[in-house]
Amino acid sequence: MNHYAGAARADGVNRPRIDLRSDTVTRPDAAMRRAMADAEVGDDVYGDDPNVNRLEAVLAERLGKEAALFVPSGTMSNLLALLSHCGRGEEVIVGRAYHIAADEAAGASVLGSMALTTLPVDDDGGLSPEAITAEVKPDDSHKPISRLVCLENTFQGRAVPLARMQAAAEAARAEGLATHLDGARFFNAITALGCTANDLAGITDSVSICLSKGLGTPVGSVLTGPRDLITRARRWRKMLGGGMRQAGVLAAAGLHALEHNVHRLAEDHANAVALAEALTGMEAGAVRQATNMVFFEPRGGVHDEMRNRLAASGILLGGGTQGAIRLVLHKDINGDDLDYLIEEFRSIFA
Ligand SMILES: *Cc1c(COP(=O)(O)O)cnc(C)c1O
Repeated sequence: MNHYAGAARADGVNRPRIDLRSDTVTRPDAAMRRAMADAEVGDDVYGDDPNVNRLEAVLAERLGKEAALFVPSGTMSNLLALLSHCGRGEEVIVGRAYHIAADEAAGASVLGSMALTTLPVDDDGGLSPEAITAEVKPDDSHKPISRLVCLENTFQGRAVPLARMQAAAEAARAEGLATHLDGARFFNAITALGCTANDLAGITDSVSICLSKGLGTPVGSVLTGPRDLITRARRWRKMLGGGMRQAGVLAAAGLHALEHNVHRLAEDHANAVALAEALTGMEAGAVRQATNMVFFEPRGGVHDEMRNRLAASGILLGGGTQGAIRLVLHKDINGDDLDYLIEEFRSIFA
């Protein structure tokens, strides 16, 4: 679906000035491209690529894990985690609306022959420890073998409080289950929670993070965890065709992002607050803000009209003709863009 209808940028590139569909739409900036162009490379399947090795070491260290694995996508990273934690006939307990259950094409069931059991996600984005405990199966040949609990943070923009994460992980651990965190937006979460990477990552056995969302790289995710788990994940990555050769060009983008694009996530959150306040102030509809996202339901159900008018001004929104539309702030939306965006909304709703 592409609602974009014109309004080329001043630099002549035919793309929207402001793309609010996701933070995955960011393009590598000049400094990141230079880091990529200058990257020393080797064959990572032989373990020879210095930038891949460095990226894995840096993230393992930052998250307080023994080892890490660079992979093409967050979906593959989560899949490798599930395949490495669980075997055939084993069970993963996960939030129903979490990405692993809702948006990864049941890959773990298809490729790993495991059962995904889903729990309702609470309003703050966490899972109830009691619900986890109640779902763990007895040792009974009628049942799958409960093995893993998956958490997510941020969830639909919400930074789930550490105490809630800890309570869920403790419930899992008390039953002898392993834990995995889908931290696609891990750095947005720790920015909003005001905690260290270690504080959040230490709650679960393994953590997956995306480099290609708010951090602004073109490609890549990293799975971190215990060494034996990552060794198994490396074999699964090979089986799935995810072994990459001179991947240092991509890892260099990741290293650049960790150095330059983590501290600036607070700007995206502040921009989301400013956008939410402006929309609320003009009584444009129902507004909810969380980290770098604003969920906006225009009053009068004018979704299509709003989308078309904004598209004509070079502003691209995601789809949907009812309920809330997700507006995502990111590195390629600066202060001037934000002012322009708010003025364009005002011209519709004033
Ligand atoms: C984007 C996302 C993923 C998957 O990442 P891809 O790189 O798009 O495969 C996983 N989990 C969550 C919560 C996400 O937002």
